[in-house]
Amino acid sequence: MDRSGNAEVGAVTHILTLPSGEQMHFQLELRQRRTIGLKITPSGLVVHAPKRISKGQLETIILQKASWISKKLQALSARQVPELQWQHGEQLWLLGQYVTLDIEQNVRTKAVQHVPGKLLLALPEPHDREAVARKVVQWYVKQAKEDFLRRLEILSAKLGVPTPVLLISNARTRWGSCNSKKEIRLNWRLYQAPPHLINYVVCHELAHLKEMNHSARFWSVVASLYPDYKEAEKSLKAWSPKLHAM
Ligand SMILES: [Zn+2]
Repeated sequence: MDRSGNAEVGAVTHILTLPSGEQMHFQLELRQRRTIGLKITPSGLVVHAPKRISKGQLETIILQKASWISKKLQALSARQVPELQWQHGEQLWLLGQYVTLDIEQNVRTKAVQHVPGKLLLALPEPHDREAVARKVVQWYVKQAKEDFLRRLEILSAKLGVPTPVLLISNARTRWGSCNSKKEIRLNWRLYQAPPHLINYVVCHELAHLKEMNHSARFWSVVASLYPDYKEAEKSLKAWSPKLHAM
């Protein structure tokens, strides 16, 4: 989670060929910083580098760390959750609970319906994985928007600030962000997570309205809204691969 939504715009995928001939893909995010940071995320390697870094410097550092990176990437793929098949009977996460995808063949496509334990779909081609995925994701985005807005209203009142503008994001590497215009972006995939984790991310981003950094002061604002934030941060990391399967 970053404090500025702007960094995301600058993220570009790069490819570096290693001496072994292997290709390493990474996302480069140029930031106001002095050192280079390497991070393994569910979407792979992300490099945070100073804005004025040269290509040569960057490559040298990545090559130096190549074995560490591939070890981490291997561990990541071992942890990775199997890809969703978007088929009848499959289980999805919804607010931290399983729901079973129930796909019915019907000449007319119907709106997705959520009943206890099930997500009902009706469409002409029930084996059209793309169509199923599209419908389900659309539904999650719509639900997420309503759900997150409600949490944002309650928690911003608790913090004593006006409810900020909520935008729904589809970012691959972050759960939320808050920009200098005081708009909050939340990733729709969070709608799969247990409610307390959604609350945590909302509190985290709201705290950025007061402190646009990750200083001790920032964390004390977070703690005033969400005392058990350390536990939530850990739990969110653990949930991350599951939430990214969709
Ligand atoms: Zn943050």
